[in-house]
Formats: sequence, C-alpha cells, structure tokens
Amino acid sequence: MANMKEQIEILIHLQKIETQAGKINFALAGVSKKIAALDSEINSYENIAEEKKSFIDDLRKKYRASESDYQTNLAFLAKSQDKLTAVKTNKEYQSVLKEIDDIKIKSSAIEEEMLKNLDAIETAEQEITKLKKEFLLIKEKINEEKEIINKEAEQNRIDITVLDEEKNNISKKVSSEVMAKYNMLKEFTKGMAIAPTIDSICQGCNMNIPPQMYNELLRFDSIKHCPHCQRIIYWGKL
Ligand SMILES: [Zn+2]
Repeated sequence: MANMKEQIEILIHLQKIETQAGKINFALAGVSKKIAALDSEINSYENIAEEKKSFIDDLRKKYRASESDYQTNLAFLAKSQDKLTAVKTNKEYQSVLKEIDDIKIKSSAIEEEMLKNLDAIETAEQEITKLKKEFLLIKEKINEEKEIINKEAEQNRIDITVLDEEKNNISKKVSSEVMAKYNMLKEFTKGMAIAPTIDSICQGCNMNIPPQMYNELLRFDSIKHCPHCQRIIYWGKL
C-alpha cells in the first residue's frame, strides 16, 4: 500500500483518468446516432432517385397507352375511309367526312400528347442522370465521414481499455477505506471527488477552509474533507 501522500496523488490521477474516460464514453454513446443520421441521409437521397424513376415509369406507361390509342385510331380511320367508298347519299357522305375529321383531330391530339410525354421523359432522364452523379459524390462523402467516425470510435474503445487497465492498476495501491470514500464522493459530487485547495480556497466549491486545516493539509498524513462540500481536499497543485 502506498503512503497517504502517494494515495492522494493516485486519487488525483484516478480522477483525471475517469474524467477522460467519461468524455470518451460520452463520444462513443453518440456514435450510433451519428451513423444512423448519415445512413438516413443516404436513404433520403435513394428515395428521391426512386421517386424520379417511378415518375419516368409512369410517363412511359402513358406513352405506351397513347401509342396504342393512336393505332386504334388509325384502324378507325381506315374503316371510315372504306365507308367513304360505299356511301350512297350526300348526307351519308358528309357524315363520314365528319367522322374522318373527328378521328384526325383526335389522332393529332394523341400525337401531341405523345410528343409532350417524350419531352418529359427526356428531361426526367437527364435529371436522374445528373442526380445519380451528385448522389454518388454525396454518398462517397458520407461514407468517408462514417469511416472517420468508426475509426475514431475504434480508437476510443482502445483508449478506454487502456484507461480502465491503468485505473485498475493504480486503484490497487489505495486502501479500500480511502477508495470507498472517493467512490462515494464521486457519486455525490457527480465526478469531482477530490479538489486542490489554493490559498485556503477549496477549488471544488470556491469556499475558504479554516487556516488550521490548510496548514494540516501540508502534512499529507490523512484524508481531509472540505467542511463545505465534503470533497477530499489536498494542498496546492499536485
Ligand atoms: Zn469545498
């Protein structure tokens, strides 16, 4: 077992290790959230691409439907033109001519619709090609970011193992009684169980400690507590 001064020094070191480990663990706790956020960013881009694709599919379906309407109309036209050769009265003739006119009007409307569709498909395809290029770059960037986060997390996990090991090693040199006090105060103060006193002021709570006690601290022969915050206190900067 180390002497009291050494034990106090170990507690100070222990607190430093635990603070550092706390920060690392906090960062590690955020890793899965960060990765999930980046994954959902990738997903949202993929969804946009999917939407665009199904928009193009719809346009193509419409185009094919128009095409078949156009063919049907052509058949009607041929029929009507046949009828024209067989008409017997002028009235009938006028009626078939009107029929043919109507079919032609419908056909050109369909043609116009088809051309519009083709234009829309072309525009959408250009957009999707552009989007895909952009997404590739974005994805690459996001994946790089993920890799950095994962590598950092990996290093953090290694650091934590090292810190834990160091913590275990140095804790062995502190008496169980002192260790219990330290651990209890750590809970109670949410982290800072041991604090220096500088110019008679406890650095844990910024309150003055009695001069007599301040002088006793110089001896490092026992564990002393701040009368205000109960933290373990030691003299000056160690
Ligand atoms: Zn204090």
